[in-house]
Formats: sequence, structure tokens, C-alpha cells
Amino acid sequence: MSSSARMDVRSIGIGLLGLGVVGSAVAKAIIERHRSTDPNIPLRVASAVVRDPSRKRGVDLDPSTVSTNIESIIANPEVDIVVELMGGEDPAFGYMASALKAGQHVVTANKEVMAKRGSELLAIAAENNVQLCYEASVAGGIPIIGPLINDLTANKIQSVRGIINGTTNFILTKMAHEGADFDDVLSEAQALGYAEADPSADVDGFDALYKLSVLARLAFHTEVPLDVIHREGIREVHAKDFRYASELGYTIKLLAVAQANSDSGVLARVHPALIPLEVPMASVNGVLNAVEVEGDLVGSLWFQGPGAGPNPTASAVMGDILRIARGSSSVRSNSTTPEPFEIAAMTDHVCQYYLRLTASDRPGVLASVAKILGDADISINSVLQKDTDIENGHADLVIMTHPARESNMQSAVSSIKELDTVLRFDSLLRVETYGDRT
Ligand code: NAP
Repeated sequence: MSSSARMDVRSIGIGLLGLGVVGSAVAKAIIERHRSTDPNIPLRVASAVVRDPSRKRGVDLDPSTVSTNIESIIANPEVDIVVELMGGEDPAFGYMASALKAGQHVVTANKEVMAKRGSELLAIAAENNVQLCYEASVAGGIPIIGPLINDLTANKIQSVRGIINGTTNFILTKMAHEGADFDDVLSEAQALGYAEADPSADVDGFDALYKLSVLARLAFHTEVPLDVIHREGIREVHAKDFRYASELGYTIKLLAVAQANSDSGVLARVHPALIPLEVPMASVNGVLNAVEVEGDLVGSLWFQGPGAGPNPTASAVMGDILRIARGSSSVRSNSTTPEPFEIAAMTDHVCQYYLRLTASDRPGVLASVAKILGDADISINSVLQKDTDIENGHADLVIMTHPARESNMQSAVSSIKELDTVLRFDSLLRVETYGDRT
């Protein structure tokens, strides 16, 4: 019997792979809102698989449903929808592939597996005529996958740009508002549970990288593999940079951007960027996420909300479960084969740059830096000399350039670092372009 036929005659069995932060919130939502006695959409948690069944969970489930036995879910006729909330690539990929092949629908919140193996999984879902839904994998509670697959499908998407990692946005917001340094705010974020003990996935930009790969595949109908996406994290952003950026009319955010250009192709990049204070993205603070989509028919759209947390993420997971349960035959799993699309090189990216260096406070230093920039075809927009340390004879030099090519800037930076009057090259940050204002 097909899984959809099974769903018509009895309550819909949900198999949870993982019962952690999100899994427990999803189980709770099923029990409290859609339990099997609900005549409209009768759902029931048929079984849950975890690593350690003896652990206390934040949800009241019959202990006999919680085990380490994967066969209680995969290919179990009592389970119509497999909800993968374990995280990571393995064993999640294998479990999801097996479930799809067994005719079970799959819902996931796992950006890593969708970024690394999403196309394979979508193809398996299509071959087996079942759905693979992953709304919660990007930007938590914000509906962004559904709009890209369904509502915006008539558009040629020009860009998807956003703040899609709440941890780094929390850290950068604190640094901006309190003048605090990265290490101090990271410790605070860890104490509050906003950052992991090993913060690398967030602060080094991997989490945003996975999410951007998923968004770019949908927006541009092409594979945008992780290794073609430029990635920089936020460890090198300093409290001073916020102070100087603010004097220049900017704040600093970790942006994930995928843009299509008819000549050069799709350029995808994750890096900290200066953002003009007056654009809405500059006011997306704390753990909030926001995504801006530009389509040729619709123009500019703005999505903002909680990008993580048990309930917002459960909201997105439940949306996918209920759509499948209602038998909606929408094309949400976006099983179309990606078309080839040129991938643009980061070295050709053009933007304004912010440079901060610690230089000897003596005549001729600026001239030598300006000469290197000029030789690389980069012109200076403005210069600030700050925090002069008379005793030690050095000062901060903050330079804003006019738009320049990334490759030119990188070679200029190498030469500037070699000047003996430059004691330290502190920061190179890109300025994000917004209309006429950069
Ligand atoms: P979590 O709290 O660490 O929970 C993971 C669950 O999976 C735990 O119940 C764990 O079992 C189980 N598990 C892990 N590896 C397993 C294995 N090999 N075999 C069996 N069970 C295994 O993680 P989470 O925060 O809920 O995140 C789950 C997924 O949602 C991830 O893909 C994450 O990226 C995504 N997500 C999370 C959030 C959020 O706010 N937390 C937001 C958006 C998306 P034990 O409990 O026994 O250890």
C-alpha cells in the first residue's frame, strides 16, 4: 500500500530521528496540537530514535516509543513521515535515503545534509514519488524555502542576501552596541546557550555556508557546491571596527549573499560586511535572521524572524509535516534537476573596501599605502587617522576605498603588509552595495 493510501485510513505515524532541542519541541507540538484524536489532522509519534534512550526528554512520550532501533522507523509500515532532527551528514543521509526508498516522506531541519547531499536526496524522493521537505533547514521559523520553490517560481531571482546565522548576529550586535571584544561576547553567548562549546560551525561561517548553498540551489536552479562559495567568519572583526564603521555610517554583519549576473554567473559569498546604517538589514539584531530576495517580477522581498530555537524551528517542521499530511501535492520538494549555471569567481567581485592598519605615526606613511593602492587601480574614498599613540609613535589608519576588484585588493594588501611603516594589517572588510548607497 502506498504511504498516501495508508494515511487516508488511520492517524498519520511520525517517526522522529532525534529527540533533542528541536525533536522534543516537534513531539510536543504533535501531542499538544495534532494528537491522533484530532479529527482534522490526526498525527501520532509512532517512534523516536535517539543515541541514549535513558536521557530525560522535555516531552512526555511513552518510553516504549523511544529507542536506538532504527528499524522502528525506517520502512516500518506504522511510520508515514520520517522527521530527521539528528543533524550532520552521517548517518542522517543514509537514514533519509533509506526512508525515501521505502516510500516514506521525509521532513528535515538539517542544513548540512541538504547542502552536501540535497540533490541526491531530492532525486531519490522524486524516483520514489514521495516528498522531501526542508523548510526548517534555513532560517529556522522564517518561511523561505517554500516561497522560493512555490510562490516566487515565476521570477528570475537576481539575488538572495541575508543574515542567516543567529549566533554570529548575536555576537556582532553585542560588539556593536557594547563596544565589547569578540572573545568576551563569545563567552557570554556560550553561557547563554546561544553558542556551542565548539563555536566553529557558527563563527567561522560554516553554518551560513550550508544554508546559502541550499538557498542558492533553489534560487538559481543550479548546484552551488560548498567549495565554490567564498567563506570568512567573524573572528577577525574587532570592537574598534564597529567604532570606526559607525563614524563612517555603517555597522558590521555576517552576510550570506548569492547574486546572479548574466555575464559572470552566480557569485555566492559568506563574510562580514559593512552595511549602511539606514538599510533595514543593519537593524536586524540579536539572534534574529533576515533574508532579502530580489526577483525580476516581484521586486524586493523581505523576510525576517527567529532563525533558530525549538519552537520557531518546530513551527517550520510542523508546517512541512501538516502539508504532507493534508495530502498537498505541491512541488515543495523541488525535485527538478538543477540546470548548469556559470559560477562566478570571487576574485572578480567588485565592491568598496574598509581597511584598518596600525602604522608608524610619521610623514609619508599614507603616501606609501596610497601608492600601492593606486598601482593596483584602487582609489581612496576617505581616510581616518585614529587612536594616535604618541608614546609608541603609532596610530590607526582607516581607509575606505572606491569600488575595486577583489583580486586587485588582495594583491595590494600583500604589498601593504610588507611596508616597514605598517606595524600590523588589522582588518579588510567589504562594504555591501545597496542601490546607490554603498
Ligand atoms: P540536538 O539537541 O543535539 O538533538 C539531536 C538529537 O539527535 C538527539 O536526540 C540525539 O540523541 C539524536 N542523535 C544524534 N545523533 C544520533 C545518531 N547517530 N543516532 C541516533 N540518534 C542520534 O540537536 P537540535 O538542536 O535539536 O538540532 C537538530 C537538527 O535541527 C540539526 O540538523 C540542526 O542543525 C537543526 N536545527 C536546529 C535548530 C535549533 O535551534 N536547535 C534550528 C534550526 C535547525 P540523544 O538525545 O540521545 O543524544
